[in-house]
Order: sequence, then C-alpha cells, then structure tokens
Amino acid sequence: VNELRLALDYGGTKHTAALLRPGERTWAAHARVYSPQGADAIYDQVTMLRMARGLLAQVPGKLAAIGVSFGGPVDAARGLVRLSHHIPGWEEIPLADRLRAELGAPAAVDNDANVAALGEWRFGAGQGCESLLYVTISTGIGGGWVLGGRIWGGADGMAGEIGHMAVRPGGAACDCGRRGCLEAEACGRAIARAARMKLETGSWTARAAEEGAASDLLTLVNGNPDAITAQHVAQAAEAGDALAVAVLEEAARMLGAGLGCAISLMNPERVVLGGGVTKAGERWWRVVRDTARNHVLPQARVEILPAALGDDAPLWGAAALAESLIRES
Ligand SMILES: [Zn+2]
Repeated sequence: VNELRLALDYGGTKHTAALLRPGERTWAAHARVYSPQGADAIYDQVTMLRMARGLLAQVPGKLAAIGVSFGGPVDAARGLVRLSHHIPGWEEIPLADRLRAELGAPAAVDNDANVAALGEWRFGAGQGCESLLYVTISTGIGGGWVLGGRIWGGADGMAGEIGHMAVRPGGAACDCGRRGCLEAEACGRAIARAARMKLETGSWTARAAEEGAASDLLTLVNGNPDAITAQHVAQAAEAGDALAVAVLEEAARMLGAGLGCAISLMNPERVVLGGGVTKAGERWWRVVRDTARNHVLPQARVEILPAALGDDAPLWGAAALAESLIRES
C-alpha cells in the first residue's frame, strides 16, 4: 500500500496542495488556487479540503499523514492557528483536529517560515545539516530553525523571528510597531523606501547632477519614484548606479549584521537564505557574507547559501512535516 503524504500550504494569496509517495522527490499530484478578493477562513478551509479530496481521488494509496504550512502565527504543539494577518476568521482555529476529522489521518501544523526551514533541511540546500537557520527576505523577513532534524519553535513558536531583531535602535519604523527591526532596514520594501527617500531629499540628486551622473533608477521607473521596487534598485546597482549601490549595500550590511548575531548566538552549521531579495545579485551576497563574517568570532563557521526550493519550500516542508508524523507514530 502506498502511504501517501499530503502537503498543504495556506498562503495569504494562494493555496497549494500536493501528494507525495514515500521515497519520491516529485509530486504524485499537485493543485493550486488563487484566493479571490474577500476570502475568509471558511473559504480557505473549504477550498483546501476540496483540493485535497480531488488529489486523493487521483492517486491510488492510503493517506498516512498531513503536513501543513500556514502563513501566520501557529501553536504547533496543539495544531492551532492563532490568527492570519491577511485573512479574517482564522482566530484560534484547531486546524490539525479539523483536518484529521475530515481526511482521516494525523496532521501537523506550523508557520510558513518554520515549515520552509524544514523543507530546505529535508529536500533543499540544508540537507545533511545538524543545525540550520533559514531566513526568507522578500516583502518582509522571516526565519526558522531546524535543530537535530526538527523545527525548533522555542517556547512560543516565535524562534527564528529574525526580522524583528533590533539592528538599528531608533531606526526605520516597522510594521510590528517598533523601530530599527531588521525587516524595516533590509527587506524588499525597505530597500525601495530607502531609494525613494534618497531621491526625494534631493541632496543625492543635486550632488549626482554636479558630478554629471544622475541616478539611472528614475529612468527605470519613467521618472516616478513611487514605482520603485527592490528589483529596480538591484537592476540599477547591477548597472553601477551609485545611489542604487549605496542603498542595496546598506540593506545587505544590516542583514549581514543580523545574521552575524544569530550565528554568534547559535553557531549553526549552515544558514540558508531564500526570498526575492536574494536575487539582487552578487554584490548583495558578497556584502551580506562579508558583514556576517566580520561580526562573528573567527572560530565559528559562516556558511551562507542560497535556498534551493524557492517558493515551494513551505510545500516541501509540509511534506517533511507529514513524514515526521509517520516516523514518530
Ligand atoms: Zn518589527
């Protein structure tokens, strides 16, 4: 009998479900649905169950376990979703119990950064590591720890929240209400905002004009600073634009300093970085690695690698979570 693992990824804008057979590295079946405007927790749950049942009808075998990645805070020990910052109605939902009741197999639930960390450890760039820190740098910054082959969530499931580590006391305002968080200094939105601010204050523009080198960044967005994204900054930096280089390197230094703190504290065997900002080019990677190295004692290793699974890390991690349920049963 095929002992199927069901992987579910509840995202803010899309839901993905997939089935994995034991020992395989390609999905036996896979489905994705983009959420309509106004979707709530009921819609999310009904949609995911419909997708899961559809996949199970396609693939012969018996469902052995369910692993879940959820985009929001989770009480993993109780399989409980605490809330979603994007979708209403997810407050205190016993998702693991509901899935077990509906689909007849045990379920494990954790937040997307933790589950992505497990995915990279089991199937991606963290394979073979005893200790792994995974950090995703995109519109925000999240992270998770895998220690001894298990997610280390800490006392409240909040371990690995490196995005809200204070790297610049009194620095930029963060969505969490504090200041100087790593996320507010180094995520994609922070990079775009820093570039806009430099352009708008004009000091840079005036100096660059004097030197006969206005920023290429404005050309990329047809003169509209509001349209600037981190991708534009990376693109302009790649072409040697001085303003873009300064902004990108400052964000990379902040991230490198934050990673250095995490490395000093836990001495992980490997650090894996994922998310859109990691596509910002060789310069960004060099500054991140050099800064982290400079903030860590020389006896500790600093091995910082790109993630291997991309946006699929939470889904693969959910499959790994299901696998660990089977192993422990
Ligand atoms: Zn914060």
